[in-house]
Amino acid sequence: MSKNGPASGRVADMRIAFIGLGNMGGGMAANLTGAGHEVRAFDLSADALAKAGEQGAMPCATIAEAVDGANAVVSMLPNGSIMRSVYLNEVVGHAPVSAILIDCSTIDVETARDVAAQAVAAGYDMVDAPVSGGIAAAAGGTLTFMVGGTMAGFEGARPVLENMGKAVIHAGEAGAGQAAKICNNMLLGIQMLGTCEAFRLAERLGLDPQKFYDIASVSSGQCWSMTSYCPVPGVGPDSPADRDYQGGFATALMLKDLSLAVAAADAVESRTDMAHLARDLFARHDADGAGARDFSSIIQTF
Ligand code: NAD
Repeated sequence: MSKNGPASGRVADMRIAFIGLGNMGGGMAANLTGAGHEVRAFDLSADALAKAGEQGAMPCATIAEAVDGANAVVSMLPNGSIMRSVYLNEVVGHAPVSAILIDCSTIDVETARDVAAQAVAAGYDMVDAPVSGGIAAAAGGTLTFMVGGTMAGFEGARPVLENMGKAVIHAGEAGAGQAAKICNNMLLGIQMLGTCEAFRLAERLGLDPQKFYDIASVSSGQCWSMTSYCPVPGVGPDSPADRDYQGGFATALMLKDLSLAVAAADAVESRTDMAHLARDLFARHDADGAGARDFSSIIQTF
C-alpha cells in the first residue's frame, strides 16, 4: 500500500485510465492502485503493460477500452505530438465527459493549451500537470505537480494527483503547468552549468573541492545543484556523481526541457541568452554519448 492508501482518508475507489507506463508512469500508476483505485492501463509497450499488471493495474488492449467509464484519465507520454494524437484521436469522444483529463507529460505550452481547448470544447475538463522529481519520486509518490487549468479542473485533478505526489500546486490557466515546468528546468540546467564551472575553476586555482563546497554551501553561491545534487564525486550529499552519473535525471531529458524552454522563449521574444547556451552545451554532451547519463556528468566536459 502506498503512503496515501485509503486509510489516509483521501478519495479512493475511482476508476482511473492510465496511458503511458514507462519509467515515470509505471511508478505513478502503482501508487494509484496502492491507494485503492481501479487503474486501467494502456501502453504501446507490452513489457510496460505487463509490469503495470503485476503492480495491480488492469492491462487494456486499446485506449478506448482503458478510458471507458473512467472518472479520470492520466497520461505520462514522451512528447507533445504523441500526447495530441492520444487525446484528440483516442480519449476525447471515448471517455465519459465527466472524466477529468490530466496530462502529466512534459510538453510544449502551445500543444498543452490547444489540446485542452479542444477537450473543453468537447465538454471535458482538462489540466496539464507536469512533474518535478524523477523516477525515484514517481515510485515513491513524492512528485511535485504544477497544474494548469481552471480552478474546477484543478479541484477535480487534485485528489488523483495527491496519491502520487507530495505537492500539488495550481499554476494558472491551461498551459501554466508546462510554463512553470520548463522555466524551473531551464533554471536548473543553467544553475548546474554554473556550479560545474565554479568547482572546476576553484580546482584550477588550487582549492580543494571539499573546501570550496564547505565555503560556497554557506555563502551566496549556494544553490540546489550544489547542496542537493553536487556534480563532484565524494562532495556533498549522495548524488548521481557518486554512482558514476548513473540514474538521476538523464542528459537527454535535460536537453529536451531546455529545447522546450528556448522554443517557448523565442515564440514570445523573451531574452534567454543563458538558456540558449545551456541548450547548446547539453546538446553537445548528448551528441558525445552522454544522453542516458545523469545531466550533472556535464562537469566532465569542463
Ligand atoms: P518513458 O519513455 O520511459 O515512458 C513513456 C511511455 O509512453 C513508454 O512506455 C511508451 O511505450 C509509452 N507510449 C509512447 N507512445 C504511446 C502511445 N501512443 N500510447 C500509449 N503509450 C505510449 O519516459 P518517462 O521517463 O517515463 O517520461 C515520460 C514523461 O515524463 C516525459 O514527458 C518526460 O519528459 C517526463 N519526465 C520524465 C522524468 C524522468 O526522470 N524520467 C522526470 C520528469 C518528467
